[in-house]
Amino acid sequence: MTFAATVLTLYPEMFPGPLGVSLAGRALEERRWSLDTVQIRDFASDKHRTVDDTPAGGGAGMVLKVDVLAAAIDHARSLQPDCPVLAMTPRGKPLTQERVRELASGPGVTVLCGRFEGFDERIFAGREVEEVSVGDIVLSGGEPAALMLLDACVRLLPGVMGAVDSGTEESFENGLLEYPHYTRPVEWEGSSIPDVLRSGDHAKIAAWRKERSEEDTQARRPDLWDRFNRK
Ligand code: SAH
Repeated sequence: MTFAATVLTLYPEMFPGPLGVSLAGRALEERRWSLDTVQIRDFASDKHRTVDDTPAGGGAGMVLKVDVLAAAIDHARSLQPDCPVLAMTPRGKPLTQERVRELASGPGVTVLCGRFEGFDERIFAGREVEEVSVGDIVLSGGEPAALMLLDACVRLLPGVMGAVDSGTEESFENGLLEYPHYTRPVEWEGSSIPDVLRSGDHAKIAAWRKERSEEDTQARRPDLWDRFNRK
């Protein structure tokens, strides 16, 4: 079954963009996933094809109109009735590898990209959408967030990544950051690859990697470390 990605956007020309290259691009060519864009502006009802309006109560910027958003979402749902609709917004639930893995194992995703000041609030109660954030940063639009989300999903699809385990040993997959990597040259500017990694002793290597993964998580991401220990 093909993972169906549908992106609702005012800038369909941004897709596939970086997802047309390398791993995701090859997978797209091989039809391991599909990508469709829906131009939100096509659902405007007036002759000027208006998608935004000034914020009620005043203030800077423009707000995406709820009636236009709802019509675009309803259209996308008719195309992909089984796919969850994810609205990209800084106030959404921070995206995690766990959620990405769940999405990647499903039929696909429909991603709604905001622009300007964002969405009229009533869309969240009026339509079933999952609010997703890609971090405590503010982007100028939801498109780069959608690209991130889709990239993370696509690499997990069957047959997309080369080595079978390279998906499961990564950072966050077991609640920890991944251990550090090295490759030749053995000596570089006075710094060498740790001896254990060249020992050929697989049990020792595994123990070293586990230890480094735990140490690095503790030092860099105390939040992850706490959660890992509470599990
Ligand atoms: N006024 C909003 C920001 C709007 S940014 C606020 O202060 O919260 C414009 C659009 O970019 C948003 O509608 C959303 O779709 C997207 N966007 C910006 N930052 C994002 C983030 N961290 N995660 C997901 N989408 C984001």
